[in-house]
Amino acid sequence: MRILLHACCGPCAAGPLTALGEEGHGVDLLFYNPNVHPYREYLHRLDALEVVARRLGAVLWAGETYDLEGWLAQAVRTQERGRSRCEMCFRIRLEETARVAAAGGFDAFTTTLLGSPHQDQAVLRRVGEAAGRRFGANFWGRSFRPQFAAGRTLARRWGLYRQGYCGCIYSEAERYRGKPRKRAASSELV
Ligand code: SF4
Repeated sequence: MRILLHACCGPCAAGPLTALGEEGHGVDLLFYNPNVHPYREYLHRLDALEVVARRLGAVLWAGETYDLEGWLAQAVRTQERGRSRCEMCFRIRLEETARVAAAGGFDAFTTTLLGSPHQDQAVLRRVGEAAGRRFGANFWGRSFRPQFAAGRTLARRWGLYRQGYCGCIYSEAERYRGKPRKRAASSELV
């Protein structure tokens, strides 16, 4: 099959890309992640993905825009309505992947998010299938969790950048909030 693989970062792409290639699939990568903040973090992740694409011989497409304001506005609206921010985030990224897959004549599209132990696979599949129906592309909801460890091994071997949080500023705060911080003596006096 000719597959468009949405990729969130290099380490998460390495395992699935290797496995799909060994199975005989032709895979292009798409980096579309306006949820990654701040912008330098986005560039670090894109740089790491470029290394993976080069090493494994895949074509890498990068989203034409980094819609920080649009993503944040949707995140605020979604949370004000009491809805799931992560589901919204999946939808934005998978709808763009479905659109590109349909336009490019790919047999199927999928995402490296299906390899993460932290993401809800049932929600990803529901959102991916809806995106496929909307744009006329086939979503492949296969789990890439069996490839997660192999991807981490390749990331270490290749010296890839590995992020410490999911992507958005909310997840960055959730990841580090509550960790003890060393403060300068002067700041403890105020
Ligand atoms: S935690 Fe991750 S999946 Fe959820 S909204 Fe933030 S970047 Fe998106």
